[in-house]
Amino acid sequence: MTTKQLALVIDLNVCVGCHACVTSCKGWNDAGAAGPLTDQNPYGADPSGTFFNRVQTFEVGEFPHTETVHLPKSCLHCEDPPCVPVCPTGASYKRAEDGIVLVDYDKCIGCKYCSWACPYGAREIDEQQKVMKKCTLCVDRIYDAKLPEAERKPACVLACPTSARLFGDIHDPESEASRAIREQGGYALMPEWGTQPANHYLPRRKTGKRLHPDELERHDNPLKVDGKLPRPSPDDPALDDVTSW
Ligand code: SF4
Ligand code: SF4
Ligand code: SF4
Repeated sequence: MTTKQLALVIDLNVCVGCHACVTSCKGWNDAGAAGPLTDQNPYGADPSGTFFNRVQTFEVGEFPHTETVHLPKSCLHCEDPPCVPVCPTGASYKRAEDGIVLVDYDKCIGCKYCSWACPYGAREIDEQQKVMKKCTLCVDRIYDAKLPEAERKPACVLACPTSARLFGDIHDPESEASRAIREQGGYALMPEWGTQPANHYLPRRKTGKRLHPDELERHDNPLKVDGKLPRPSPDDPALDDVTSW
């Protein structure tokens, strides 16, 4: 276990699934030390590409008691990352100084062992460069002394319009990230894998929902309204007959 462990804490209660974290991540990292993040067929019928961060949106429950849940997911910077020991070249490594898991592109041979080992699907091969890529926690900006201190955070954290993303050292009990985990019931994804993900999620608050049957009827449903509208006869004057333009 590293002394310091940087991580993201994502509040599922306020994430609105806007993808600002996805686009800001791609924007920053495409142009930075971790880039390029190549796209294939971006404007075609079957686009694909390399992203460090994706938002997966689910509908849970059964109608009418359904909820939409947005789950932003990137590398969780596991404390015991299975993607590191499987790497045959030493390209995949965890930094001792801050716990960030990185890939050395110069050593990566694109064998994909690490992506098979990651239980979270957090690694993405760059099909053009043939090297494995993943979230770096914007390591090239969080230590950049040329930036104002308030901006030394991952691009996704700065872009999130609802402040759903916190960033900090989860081994420092006084950090904002640690306090949020402690006070708001933060949890890690799939702890049964023993990977000890550093990133945590804050759970959605349960809110009581009372649905009245009226609320389930769409009064603007065109099928319903159409049935009640008077049908014009073909002999009725049309708009062009009664109007001079
Ligand atoms: Fe490795 Fe996956 Fe954990 Fe990231 S989330 S450190 S890629 S096992
Ligand atoms: Fe290591 Fe690259 Fe193979 Fe992943 S794809 S295991 S980083 S050499
Ligand atoms: Fe959710 Fe914030 Fe990402 Fe938007 S930017 S999808 S609100 S975490």
